[in-house]
Amino acid sequence: MLGLLGLLVISDNPVAAQVVVVVVLAPLLWLFSWWLAGGIHRTWEGLVAGKPPEVAIGRAWRRSGARQQLREDQHAHFFHDRGGILMRRRDWFIATGTPPLRVDPETVAAAASAQQDHPRYVTTYSDRSYWWHQDAFYWTNCPELTGEDIKALLFARERRQKRELEHAHAVLAAASALLPERKRQPIPRDVKLAVFQRDEGACVECASNFDIQYDHIIPFSMGGSNTADNLQLLCGRCNQKKGGRL
Ligand SMILES: [Zn+2]
Repeated sequence: MLGLLGLLVISDNPVAAQVVVVVVLAPLLWLFSWWLAGGIHRTWEGLVAGKPPEVAIGRAWRRSGARQQLREDQHAHFFHDRGGILMRRRDWFIATGTPPLRVDPETVAAAASAQQDHPRYVTTYSDRSYWWHQDAFYWTNCPELTGEDIKALLFARERRQKRELEHAHAVLAAASALLPERKRQPIPRDVKLAVFQRDEGACVECASNFDIQYDHIIPFSMGGSNTADNLQLLCGRCNQKKGGRL
């Protein structure tokens, strides 16, 4: 409509034509050249950046669900390659199931020392944000968590695990004190001889004399002793059938 109006004015009046050129066409030309420059710039950037390397670790990406989580990703790491038409160095971060995510090497270098004391944000992929703390990588699907929150959560988790471990050791120690583990003692020769003679050199169950073994009637581990009263002859098969039973 503006163009039509311009044509009408130009055809009649040369001064108006000049005004139209200055007021309408010049800004349009200017905008067009901006748009063109932007496009060329973006294309050039794309060529310099190149395609990301085709690498993947672990299983395919899965959304983490509604439950809020903070979890370690033991496979996450940084790496670099060269790419784009200028073969420039490119820095990447990759985690389980994510494609390589471009990172700024200067930011990574600065975070590398800082992450020892405080969790440092690395990058975000889909609903997960990745954090770096004490040389380990963590992801959370809870975007409002700050570095301080993550530090506190990891600290609490570590302490809880330590307490659980201490508790487990205490339980084991208490159980061991109740049931001291006895070391199996060899059966004295004279006891063996007495048992052999008493049971006439044969299995008390099936009377076989093949593969004869000395069996503790009350198992040694349950407090049974190495006396003739607590011993009997069993063949290998009968002993196996008896198993752990008394
Ligand atoms: Zn037998």
